[in-house]
Amino acid sequence: MTKYKCKLLPFERIDCLSLQDAKQKAGWSITAFDLPKSWEKTQGEGVVIAVLDTGCDLDHPDLVNNLLPGINFVNPKLPPIDDNGHGSHCTGIICAENNEIGMVGVAPKAKVRPIKVLDKNGNGNMLHVAEGIRWAIDQKVDFISMSLGCPVPVQQVRKAIQLAAKAGIITFVAAGNAGLTKEIFYPANYPECISIGAIDKDFNRADFSNTGHNLDFMAPGVDIFSTVPDNWYATLSGTSMACPFAVGVAALMLAHKGRSALNSADAFRAAFKEHTISPKTSKFYEGFGIIDPQKFLDATR
Ligand code: CA
Repeated sequence: MTKYKCKLLPFERIDCLSLQDAKQKAGWSITAFDLPKSWEKTQGEGVVIAVLDTGCDLDHPDLVNNLLPGINFVNPKLPPIDDNGHGSHCTGIICAENNEIGMVGVAPKAKVRPIKVLDKNGNGNMLHVAEGIRWAIDQKVDFISMSLGCPVPVQQVRKAIQLAAKAGIITFVAAGNAGLTKEIFYPANYPECISIGAIDKDFNRADFSNTGHNLDFMAPGVDIFSTVPDNWYATLSGTSMACPFAVGVAALMLAHKGRSALNSADAFRAAFKEHTISPKTSKFYEGFGIIDPQKFLDATR
């Protein structure tokens, strides 16, 4: 079974803040791209995203209204409760509510189906990931977000991603946190996926962000403030945080413009490519550039 082991991309936990102390705070990734301006057009209404991760805090006050039923492949007898924190953090980046508390996600009216495929230590089985993708297809989600990976390909996962693609569901995957690599991790490396690397608040590539020829886009992934279990928040860094940001932008786009530009990873890549902040180095290091939600939403295609 070791062949199918996968691991959460590691992250650093920096600080926590209890809900009682929190007034809603817009993180740098929200203000840098002036997302409140985008929200005048759309907040991701009607879009559903499957998040394959450690589960989610199903009662978090900043998430509870945006969660749809999920599933637990680690312990099928239980709901997809987050016993790690990573999945709740990624979910908040997509869809934490625009209210008086905590923080706000990129698409604060989008919905998430939490699919637990990683255990409390962030370890998982790639066969569960493949099952999770198939379950997401059956639920007819709009996008799949996976902040997980490993350096070796697993055919069962690729097959599931190809099935999702056939159903018109685009899969976004974090590129990995191993720094300067020859290739980004799997499943991000598959052409059927949109792979996402991380930038910091100065829009520079994060040192930990994997490099490789199949890297597609960059998004905020350093010092990202989001939800963690038990009504808490934390600031974390990783390409894990960049991937849900990109999915949030995709949700805004889908809600605003409909499915025409978003029916395949290739179509999406082609559309996104024209509306990035250009990379400072090369595709190998920064993909086609930094996703710019404003440019993307304003574009005619
Ligand atoms: Ca909030």
